[in-house]
Amino acid sequence: MTLGQKQRMFTRLVGLLIEYAYQNGYELTFGDAYRDPRVHGDVGVKKSYSSAVSVHKQRLAIDLNLFKDGVYQTSSEAHRQLGEFWKDLHPDCRWGGDFKSPDGNHYSMTHGGRA
Ligand SMILES: [Zn+2]
Repeated sequence: MTLGQKQRMFTRLVGLLIEYAYQNGYELTFGDAYRDPRVHGDVGVKKSYSSAVSVHKQRLAIDLNLFKDGVYQTSSEAHRQLGEFWKDLHPDCRWGGDFKSPDGNHYSMTHGGRA
């Protein structure tokens, strides 16, 4: 699968994730999705707060702010139901709640070994 094909699949799957969230009583707002290299550096370059190899720079990640009953959820654990759903959508889907330093609002697809 080319990067472009994966980017387009990612966008479609995010749509399914958003719909699933609302069907299950959650609400969302957008955090970071694409991180522009003019601001964050090219892949492999550390600039600003982004990690050097973030898949946000490849249009393969989105951070979603989660709300339940109108209350912003700050824990990674609060995202678990959505994270599990996300991972079932495609074998390349990764959820930040599984990372060594949990990042529960991060939903991505792995590419070149990065997530
Ligand atoms: Zn992220």
